[in-house]
Amino acid sequence: MRAAQTRVTGLLMLAVGATTALAVYWLPRVAHDAPLSAYHAPTLVASSVVVALLAAIALHRDSAKHTRRAFEQLKQCALSETPCAGDLINERSGGEVARELREHIDAQKKKIDNLLMQKKNLEIQLKIADAQRKQTQVMIHGISDAVIITDAFDETLIANPAAGDLFAFDANKAARQPVAKLLTGSALAGHITEMRQHHARTNRRTFEFEHEINKQVRHFSVTMTCVNDSADQFGGVVTVLHDITREKEVGKMKNEFVSHVSHELRTPLSSIKAYAELLVDGEASDEKTRQEFYHVIQTEANRLGRLIDNILNISRIEAGMTKVNKKPVDVSSVVKQVLEVAMPTAKEKQIQLVDQLKPVFDHVNADRDMIYQACLNLVSNAIKYTPSGGTVKVSLDVDEAARQVKVLVTDTGVGIPADAMKHLFEKFFRVEQNKSMAKGSGLGLNLTRQIVESVHEGKMLVQSEVGKGSTFGFTLPLAA
Ligand code: ADP
Repeated sequence: MRAAQTRVTGLLMLAVGATTALAVYWLPRVAHDAPLSAYHAPTLVASSVVVALLAAIALHRDSAKHTRRAFEQLKQCALSETPCAGDLINERSGGEVARELREHIDAQKKKIDNLLMQKKNLEIQLKIADAQRKQTQVMIHGISDAVIITDAFDETLIANPAAGDLFAFDANKAARQPVAKLLTGSALAGHITEMRQHHARTNRRTFEFEHEINKQVRHFSVTMTCVNDSADQFGGVVTVLHDITREKEVGKMKNEFVSHVSHELRTPLSSIKAYAELLVDGEASDEKTRQEFYHVIQTEANRLGRLIDNILNISRIEAGMTKVNKKPVDVSSVVKQVLEVAMPTAKEKQIQLVDQLKPVFDHVNADRDMIYQACLNLVSNAIKYTPSGGTVKVSLDVDEAARQVKVLVTDTGVGIPADAMKHLFEKFFRVEQNKSMAKGSGLGLNLTRQIVESVHEGKMLVQSEVGKGSTFGFTLPLAA
């Protein structure tokens, strides 16, 4: 509409210009019949040109103004994706402006397409990153060691349930919490802050850490690692706590075992050495004394042999390296053999050894030598810890319903104090109050339990009362 108006104005002004020229040319000629040269032809032409130029300028100014506005509108349309550009172009179809506008629109469309493409790519990358984050989180949650990951502000990024259990917090609510708040009362938070502050100097640090859980001190090997992000900037601290309490205990037990073994070996060895020296030095002047010394040396050597055998047997069973030769065994015949072997010692100590064996026809699937060793240990102990004049009864029974055979050795000996009962089967444990009654190493009961429970899936039994006596025994499953 506006363009049409402008065009009409232009044409009108051209018409006025032409009419003026004609009037200037024709009117004097009509009135005076004078030649054209007489009325200044150049003036005529100049006035016509001036009028025409004025018309052109007016046209151009209006057109430029309109083009600018149209251009702005088109830009708006292109940006807002409103379908209005076509109308404006058609209005000035074929013109330079229309071509520029089309180019501009195309360029804008390309930019928009590119942006949309980038947006899609970013969305895909975001989804992949999210999936990877979730997968990492699942893996960290599955680790049995406690894991805590903190950022550059000592705030928790991830803490797994093992860490939550250790420091009594909810691992699912740990994200974005200050680590000092989660680990309240623990020195670990301070170690994490220290690690973050010195990360440029130290990338990884390992140290041992003690933490009390349910009133029990546990030992941990802590590894702290500083990690950098993709831009090589400090990303955070990964803290992993590995429970080494068991390893520590085993290490301590090994040390104790070695010192016990050395001590136990030294005692009989010292006796053997001392008596041998007396003999060499001619200190035993008569045959009777010499025989006495020989006897001591023999007894101590046997004791040393038994001790070494026990140590080796226990460690072989514990390591699962012992050769077990299981066959159907008649336990009553084994017990009878033990009674025969123990009878002389019992007689010597004036102890009555009573056989209470019921006829048993069932067999157990067992290693005969090992079962013999277990029975002999119990009967020997009963004789050792029963004063003269006492009684040791050995019984054998079969419980058909439970499909097991039961061997019991009951004595009328010194008995065992209640506080010592729970330590009876520990290696090298000896009841303090009973030490003077007999020599021993404190390995016999441990070996007996290993044979019964670890090798033959049986069960040890014990009952005792100080001053009244004890009953030791075991059950073994009957052969199928
Ligand atoms: P030891 O070689 O010292 O006899 P054991 O392992 O066989 O080692 O026994 C451990 C400890 O248990 C003994 O030192 C003894 O104090 C106690 N004990 C074992 N059997 C009896 C028993 N029948 N009566 C009293 N105390 C016993």
